[in-house]
Amino acid sequence: MRVVIAGAGHAAGQVVASLQQHKFAGQVVLAGEEAYLPYQRPPLSKKFLAGEMDAERLYVKPASFYANAGTELLLETRITDIDRAAKCLRTDTGTEIEYDKLVLALGSRVRRLHIEGTELPRVHYLRSIDHVEGIRADLEPGRRLVIIGAGYIGLEVAAVARQAGLDVTVVEMADRVMSRVVSPEISDFYEIEHTNQGVKFRLSTGVTALGGKKRVKTVVTSAGEEIPADLVVIGAGIVPNTELASAAGLDVEDGIVVDDHCASSDPDIYAVGDCTLHPNAIYGRQLRLESVHNALEQAKTAAANICGQDTAYCQVPWFWSDQYDLKLQIAGLSAGYDEVVIRGDPAERSFSCLYLRDGRLIAVDAINTPRDFMQAKKLIADRAEIAAERLADAAVALKDLAV
Ligand code: FAD
Repeated sequence: MRVVIAGAGHAAGQVVASLQQHKFAGQVVLAGEEAYLPYQRPPLSKKFLAGEMDAERLYVKPASFYANAGTELLLETRITDIDRAAKCLRTDTGTEIEYDKLVLALGSRVRRLHIEGTELPRVHYLRSIDHVEGIRADLEPGRRLVIIGAGYIGLEVAAVARQAGLDVTVVEMADRVMSRVVSPEISDFYEIEHTNQGVKFRLSTGVTALGGKKRVKTVVTSAGEEIPADLVVIGAGIVPNTELASAAGLDVEDGIVVDDHCASSDPDIYAVGDCTLHPNAIYGRQLRLESVHNALEQAKTAAANICGQDTAYCQVPWFWSDQYDLKLQIAGLSAGYDEVVIRGDPAERSFSCLYLRDGRLIAVDAINTPRDFMQAKKLIADRAEIAAERLADAAVALKDLAV
């Protein structure tokens, strides 16, 4: 059997590793458009951006792993078409790659801003090693950096840049930071932390244009302000790469639709990672996630099923963000919560925020409290019902609250 993996990112690397673990005896082909072996992206806005990590350490596996596994690597190869009838992919280099089973691991791409000036030199997006190399070349102490978007990537860049001695301003359309993923309590905490580090914020503010001739010089806001800028980083979210799947007639909504076995609407085609819309039994709905944990677990699930197992994906989503000396770990999804509990003291910079719905724990945001994160994740998976007052008592371990 010949398995072809389209896209060579984090999930793709794990598909190869998991096929190996299952002693898959067929052929494996990995085709991706980037020039690099599959790599992990989280350090791109953290240690790698700060220059504290080499590119080789980003790789999911070294080159020798793929060679020893007999995996055929086609890097710098863009898939342009899936011919389902012929069970064949076409690439921008004119080659055709036949498959028995296809895994779409196409990830996502940055959401581009359609305003004047985004093509100017020193305007950056952040998704890939190449992007970071461009940003790092411009990241000089004393320069004025304007970040558009106060999501986790924007704030991680702000933390690295402040520590590198840049003057940092963050412009955000919403009225609070990280509003898509955390509650107002956590947003306030992070806004204060960044402000204490010298970051300036313009919240509830859009960007209408970037000004400059030879390079970016200003960021023009919806409030009419022209913020001086020596460089700009745009962190405006991502868009899942679904176009290939749509063109091939697969079911696509806000992601390539897969079942809990990671199979698409074509039983010979699986999809994994950021590009999928998948069912989650714990939350009883379809999710599209942008997280390493999801990419890895879906990759393991698809590989197991290709190898003849009957494996269903059922996971509590989790995620993390590093900013300064703060480790934020998020488990579960807080959307729709009706009660929120703060456990511990934010002033000590080690606390957690627990979210309940109808008396059940549905999510946690843990800041410098890995134990709360681990124990709450288990309670969320168990769909535990625990009274808010008990959760708030930091003297009692969360694991001891399970009934
Ligand atoms: P990707 O890693 O994006 O890989 C997809 C690959 O497919 C890419 O190389 C792409 O170029 C390629 N591709 C797409 N279309 C084609 C085509 N037509 N032909 C060939 N190749 C194609 N997650 C966390 O859990 N914690 C974090 O702290 C965290 N931090 C992050 C920081 C940054 C800066 C970024 C960008 C992401 C971060 N994430 C984090 C998200 C995480 O990295 C993603 O969820 C993960 O990379 C998804 O893996 P994937 O394999 O689905 O997609």
